[in-house]
Amino acid sequence: MQNEYNNTKILMKKYGITANKKLGQNFLIDENVVKTIIEEAEVTKQDLVIEIGPGLGTLTQKLIEKAGKVIAIEIDKRMIKILEDRFVEAKNFEIINKDVLKINLEQLIKQNKKENIQKVKIVANLPYYITTPIIMKLLEEKLDIVSITVMIQKEVAQRLSAIPGNKKSGAITYAVYYYSEAKQILTVPSNSFIPEPEVQSEVIKLQIRNRPPIQIEDEKKFFKLIKLAFSQRRKTLVNALTTEEYTKQKIKQVLNELKINTKVRGEALTMEQFAEISKNL
Ligand code: SAM
Repeated sequence: MQNEYNNTKILMKKYGITANKKLGQNFLIDENVVKTIIEEAEVTKQDLVIEIGPGLGTLTQKLIEKAGKVIAIEIDKRMIKILEDRFVEAKNFEIINKDVLKINLEQLIKQNKKENIQKVKIVANLPYYITTPIIMKLLEEKLDIVSITVMIQKEVAQRLSAIPGNKKSGAITYAVYYYSEAKQILTVPSNSFIPEPEVQSEVIKLQIRNRPPIQIEDEKKFFKLIKLAFSQRRKTLVNALTTEEYTKQKIKQVLNELKINTKVRGEALTMEQFAEISKNL
């Protein structure tokens, strides 16, 4: 830990960097955590790794050693100069100074998946203020990727890897389960970062499925219903789904037909039950 701590401090001093809280900047200083992330991501020379938020480049350095190619997407201009200086010799490295949420990842992958590249993997210590939109983007855009290995808040990691229908589930639990198999890897304490985040962290791996665990006719409608059901968690499912589009009477009728209690809340429903409701509503 001491080594990375020193390196980080030296880099921050040299470039006059103070961490920008608004950009979720908590720099990793624990070498063992870096090692675990790389090992779990199973990075090889046949891989293109897309790193989101490289920051000062702690994780990036190891990725460059292990991967065929690394593309790092970083919003903060100050980091670009550091990364350019640090990895000037690396021929398999490219930096993009953009907001990851505004990037066309499909196109980026298409342009770079060639020659020796067989698989595309996402590896990152994510900015926590946008964990959910980033994960949703990576999953919903059905990108040509095999896995997502990321550090996120522990609480969010638990929600992502919950079984749908479990108390801890949220709308994102269903999407993660539909598109991937989630595995919790390692809890990381706050003192593994500079500055220390207010929450505990966890490394999680999402292995993208070849095909979804259940067949859904209209995915858009299915996920829209789930989002509606969780948009007001305290409400019963019937009340949460009641909108201009679906009357209370119709929802109750469908639930009765499916033998689902009309007083139930969204989080108690399995994937299959949501699928049935979506099909019949
Ligand atoms: N990877 C570094 C590490 O492990 O030390 C830094 C991780 S830090 C938690 C998150 C990084 O994401 C920061 O460098 C931050 O500037 C960057 N970031 C924040 N919002 C971003 C966005 N919308 N698009 C791309 N990068 C972003």
